[in-house]
Amino acid sequence: MHTLLGLSSLLLVLLGSALALGLLRRLGGWALRRDMQLVILVAPIVSLTLGLGGLHHFVGRACFMSAPTWDYTLGVALPLTMGGIALGGLALGMIRLVLLAWVMARRSVPAEPQLQAVADALAERLGAARPQVRLCSYDRPLALTYGLWRPTVLLSTWMVRQLDRRELEAVLAHEIGHVARRDYFVIWLATVLRDAFCYLPTSWAAYRQLQHEKELACDELAVGVTRRPLALASALTKVWQQALEGPRIGTALSLLGAGEAIEGRITRLLDAPPASPGAPRTRLFALGAGVAGLAGLVALQAVNVAVLLAPMGCGPAAPLWRVFV
Ligand SMILES: [Zn+2]
Repeated sequence: MHTLLGLSSLLLVLLGSALALGLLRRLGGWALRRDMQLVILVAPIVSLTLGLGGLHHFVGRACFMSAPTWDYTLGVALPLTMGGIALGGLALGMIRLVLLAWVMARRSVPAEPQLQAVADALAERLGAARPQVRLCSYDRPLALTYGLWRPTVLLSTWMVRQLDRRELEAVLAHEIGHVARRDYFVIWLATVLRDAFCYLPTSWAAYRQLQHEKELACDELAVGVTRRPLALASALTKVWQQALEGPRIGTALSLLGAGEAIEGRITRLLDAPPASPGAPRTRLFALGAGVAGLAGLVALQAVNVAVLLAPMGCGPAAPLWRVFV
């Protein structure tokens, strides 16, 4: 029964997340979609808390000790494994954070003042914190934003040499879009949650959506501030061509999104002025929907615990069961 409780708790998270992913198809507005994707990534914490909390509650109690050996073993192993994987995900996230900051600080130098001035002006127009622009000596396309406390835009020397002034401005605007949206922190958190619950396909699906849509949202921000969709499309085309021709295709593409994703972004920029999907909704609505979804999941989990464990005289609902049966 204890094993069944653990598995059914995971199944409830899986079903709830799949339902939320289905609802996401109907939702418009990048901010709202991102909030919902984060809720899907956070939802398995409910199941983990229940598993570890349950373990703390049951170990040593008669109902747990008298369970069949397989049920006892799995009942202990399941929440402990989930906790171990979650801790591993968190540790990996911390290592990634420190390693990137360390490598970037050693391998890059501040950009020349003209480029920094362009970035400052774009940041002001986007209402973002002014990022530090740094260059790394690398003969491949590379553009990324990092820094939890001090936002930094990193460009490779290839980008500065191969892109013209307008293309470079479009790329900078896109990267500063990530600063304005605090994407580095959001994606870091999402990666930790994805790794912590890597056994759930819904976490991977929400993470992929989040990664893909942040690029589309920043393309829109860049076009909105520069008014030059063709410059961004042209920059992306150069990057894509170089990535396809180069020997280290994997490295270049992983930093700028998957190949098909870049092609899709170029088509999107060329076809029409980008627009957010659907009608914009308020963040309050998103927050309300997210909290309601999580509260519903907690309630379902509580019912699940009561139904499965109370008949065994185990769990917090056992006294109620004795009264009614
Ligand atoms: Zn980007």
